[in-house]
Amino acid sequence: KVRVRFAPSPTGPLHIGGVRTALFNYLFAKKHGGDFILRIEDTDQTRFVEGAEAYINESLEWLGLTVDEGVVQGGAYGPYKQSERREIYIQYADKLILDGWAYYAFDTPEELEALREKAEAEKTKFSYDMKTRMGLRNSLSLSAEEVEQLKNEGVPYVVRFKMPEDVEVSAVDMIRGEVKFNTAILDDKVIFKSDGLPTYHLANVVDDYLMKITHVIRGEEWLPSMPLHIMLYRALGWEDVRPEFAHLPLILKPTGKGKLSKRDGDKAGFPVFPLEWKSPEGEVASGYRESGYVSEAVVNLLALLGWNPGTEQEIFSLEELVGAFSIERVNKSGARFDPEKAKWFNHQYLINTSDEKLAESFKKELDVKGIVADSELVVRVVGSVKERINFVFDLWEQSSFFFVAPTEYDEKVVKKRWKGDVPAFMGELTSALENVNNWVADDIKAVISAKIEEKELGFGLVMNAFRLALVGGGFGPDLMLIAELLGKEEVISRINKAVE
Ligand code: GLU
Repeated sequence: KVRVRFAPSPTGPLHIGGVRTALFNYLFAKKHGGDFILRIEDTDQTRFVEGAEAYINESLEWLGLTVDEGVVQGGAYGPYKQSERREIYIQYADKLILDGWAYYAFDTPEELEALREKAEAEKTKFSYDMKTRMGLRNSLSLSAEEVEQLKNEGVPYVVRFKMPEDVEVSAVDMIRGEVKFNTAILDDKVIFKSDGLPTYHLANVVDDYLMKITHVIRGEEWLPSMPLHIMLYRALGWEDVRPEFAHLPLILKPTGKGKLSKRDGDKAGFPVFPLEWKSPEGEVASGYRESGYVSEAVVNLLALLGWNPGTEQEIFSLEELVGAFSIERVNKSGARFDPEKAKWFNHQYLINTSDEKLAESFKKELDVKGIVADSELVVRVVGSVKERINFVFDLWEQSSFFFVAPTEYDEKVVKKRWKGDVPAFMGELTSALENVNNWVADDIKAVISAKIEEKELGFGLVMNAFRLALVGGGFGPDLMLIAELLGKEEVISRINKAVE
């Protein structure tokens, strides 16, 4: 059975790149009737951020990515938080040492820093590897007694993976194809830290094995770790049950150059986080939810960042995505994020939302503004302007004149349209409108047209002036519909006011 995991580290708010990783894992799992597991990778306590885990849960919930197993949901392979699995990792670190695949290293951070600086001065790079390890303080270079003594003295140590010399390894990435490397170019990574917790590498591999993960689907930034992970599977004797790997392409800045970052969003005014995030220091970062996006639109737009269905179809529900998704159609190259396209997706969802549903949200906004409006009217107003909105909060800007008579008139329109015979004509128009019995768009139009013909005026000119009187400017939906919705009394009163 397919089992995939989303394994974020709670080091801050989840970036949309992380959300996209979660989504692709979810789609892959559901496509294959498998399980979607959420594992919290919190072994780096220096990077722990209060509230980040709750933020991850809330984000996935908002987007409808239902987790099958995790800290909150439970499951047969728990605990699902790495800081609660300390004992497990110790066993495997010990096993690697015993089998000669890892060793203790007592070098202090200062010693290592000095080596790095020295190398830099010589324009080379220090690497803790097969070429240098014998000259450093570790259980390979020291005698058994010396090692015992250092441990007894309580000298802090880490455990390093002993990368073998000159082994050719080849592995397949489901997106990138065959990846080949020679272990000679790799260094001896720390797998267990002096604080008693494993590093990401060991914890990640041990948990994927114990949680029976079949496919590791993660961001491209983890591709350089794949050789080490493959070697860890080999060292632990799990090579034949090792998961398959798929490394997703980066999400790029709108310019297409470089990885999309929070700063890009700040600069151009679009969110890069699913939900608003308030950091423990009180900093606020905007979120898609608070910016007026519906979750379906966010899922849809993220799905198409790095994946394509192979057809022209762009609008997909989560269910449709599950059906259409395939890892083979994920691109190798980075996916450019387009904030305008993001708005377009939201627009598509809003125009396909029923007027009644949109009106419900809009009614709440009107209530806040203290505007009392008939529900049926609100539904019709929403229907008349929804083509023009990207967000529910755009509704007010597009339709406030339905609820509040204009108090100012657009100067430019006044200059261009409110001239010659027009003001006098508008004054006369009211008596004709008084006589419209059935106040519907067609009848209103017929009466106005007849009047214009009688006076031999330009239809366009009058219509623009009429719009100015009702709306205060040169915008809005169909004018006759506006007139119908405003009602006879209100239309006449607005004309009279404009004529004054
Ligand atoms: N904890 C890693 C992260 O924060 C997980 C990487 C992986 O999926 O292996 O992205």
